[in-house]
Amino acid sequence: EPHGALYGRVLVKVSGEALMGNEAFGLHWPTIENIAQDLVEARSTGCEIAVVVGGGNILRGASVAGQGLDRATADHMGMLATVMNALALEKAVEKAGVPARTLSAIPMPTICEPYARQTASRHLARGRVVLLAGGTGNPYFTTDTGAVLRAAELECDAVMKATNVDGVYTADPKRDPSARRYERLTHDEALAKDLKVMDAAAFALAREAKLPIVVFSIREPGAIAAAIRGEGRATTVAP
Ligand code: UDP
Repeated sequence: EPHGALYGRVLVKVSGEALMGNEAFGLHWPTIENIAQDLVEARSTGCEIAVVVGGGNILRGASVAGQGLDRATADHMGMLATVMNALALEKAVEKAGVPARTLSAIPMPTICEPYARQTASRHLARGRVVLLAGGTGNPYFTTDTGAVLRAAELECDAVMKATNVDGVYTADPKRDPSARRYERLTHDEALAKDLKVMDAAAFALAREAKLPIVVFSIREPGAIAAAIRGEGRATTVAP
């Protein structure tokens, strides 16, 4: 019985790093299974769930570019890393009992469906968890920008940004013990105070699309479902 969702459709951004648990690289299966379980619980609120996965646990374009490898090629490799992560998460969600589909911004039809807005929307309406791989499909962007872009075009009610920190703070809470967490902020306030919510391109797009961003910590079990219910510690950036 669905209950308690604040939103009808959301885009959940999961960083690649969230998939590696306490390891330094790659995929940590127990962690991936926990995140999948959280996504299944989130789905059980009745909310439609699209997910954009990062690739930082495998490769970041900006970090490997140079020494003969140009940035665009390095970014292509980064986008491929996000496809690997999406496939892993897709299998874990299905294993946890909810149908899931990976759609890639870079067409690779022998592995998963190519991304198209209508296809994604149809899968969502049918209750599937939709994993959006390949970011925006273009170099020089991030998966945060991909998350905001997909959220806007799929008419999601919010971007749920799962991070290592339980919200947006007045200062870096790791360095400044007096830092306080914001409960609510407008996009304009976040911009004026120069608070790091997402990278500049992603944030500008969210502000333009008047898209709420909910920042919360993925470290708490059940955090995604809690954020969708409006429970748990988080910061909501909304007009
Ligand atoms: N990337 C890209 N275009 C996009 C999204 C991602 O070129 O639209 C590449 C880029 O090289 C990036 C890598 O994919 O470093 C992994 O994505 P990201 O760094 O956003 O992953 P996260 O930090 O969320 O794990």
